[in-house]
Amino acid sequence: MNTLEITDLTVTIGDKPILKNFSLTVPKGEVHALMGPNGTGKSTLAKALAGHPDCQITSGEVLMDGESILDLEPDERARRGLFMAFQYPSEIPGVTIANFIRAAVQSRLGEEDDFEATTYYKQLYKKMDLLKIDRKFTSRAVNVGFSGGEKKRCEILQMAMLEPAYAVLDETDSGLDIDALRVVSEGVNSLRGADMGILVITHYQRLLNYITPDHVHVLWDGQIVKSGGKELALVLEEKGYDWVKDLAPA
Ligand code: ADP
Ligand code: MG
Repeated sequence: MNTLEITDLTVTIGDKPILKNFSLTVPKGEVHALMGPNGTGKSTLAKALAGHPDCQITSGEVLMDGESILDLEPDERARRGLFMAFQYPSEIPGVTIANFIRAAVQSRLGEEDDFEATTYYKQLYKKMDLLKIDRKFTSRAVNVGFSGGEKKRCEILQMAMLEPAYAVLDETDSGLDIDALRVVSEGVNSLRGADMGILVITHYQRLLNYITPDHVHVLWDGQIVKSGGKELALVLEEKGYDWVKDLAPA
C-alpha cells in the first residue's frame, strides 16, 4: 500500500504514443532511478504523473498508496503528497519564493491549520542553509533571472519544505556544476527516508554517484527494457545507451 504504483500506463501526446504499457512501482523508503537517452519519454512520465493537460492517458493506472490519482487535478495530487521537480522550472514573475512556498505548505495543511509566520521562516531558513541558498532569494520572484543551478536548488527547497510522500525529480542534475550537484544531492539525501519514495530521472550516471539509488531502470522508446541495482548505472556510464535498444521488444 505504501507505494506509487504505475501499471501498464500508455500516454499519448497529440496522437503519438510516448509511454507504452509502462509499469513501475516506487515504495516509500526507496530511491529509484529512471535513466534513458533523450526523447524516450522520461519527462512525459513526470508530466503524466503530475496531470499535465498535454498528456492523454489511454490505458493503465497510477495508484498512490492504493488510490487512483488519474482523475485528480494536479493540485489535488500535490496535496495528497506527490511532488515534482521539473526539468524546466517555470518563472513566476511577481510571486516571491517565500510566498510561493508558504502558499503551497498552507494549502497542504488546510484552512483551519494556520502556519505561523515565525515558524514558517524558521523552517525555510533552515532548509535554505542546508541547500546553501542565500537568504536574499526569499524575496526574489520564483525562478525569474535564476541560473540553471539556482532553479534546481529552488526546486529541492520546495521539496524540503513540502516533505512529500513521493517525489519525482526530472533531470535535477542538468545545468549544475559539480559544487551545486553536491549541494543538491546532499539536500535530497537528507530528505530520503522511510516516509518518502523518490524517483530520480536522469540521463547521466553522474548524479547517481551522489544519490545512491536502490534500483535503476532503463527507459527505451517508452518502455523499461532493463532494471537492476545501482551497478546498472555504471554499466550505462561505461557502455552508453547503444546496446539498450537491442533489449527493446520487436
Ligand atoms: P525525455 O524526457 O526522455 O527526453 P520527453 O518525454 O521529453 O523525453 O519526450 C518524449 C517524446 O515526446 C519526444 O519524441 C518528444 O518530441 C515528444 N513530446 C514531448 N512533449 C511533446 C509535446 N508537447 N508535443 C509533441 N511532442 C512532444
Ligand atoms: Mg526530459
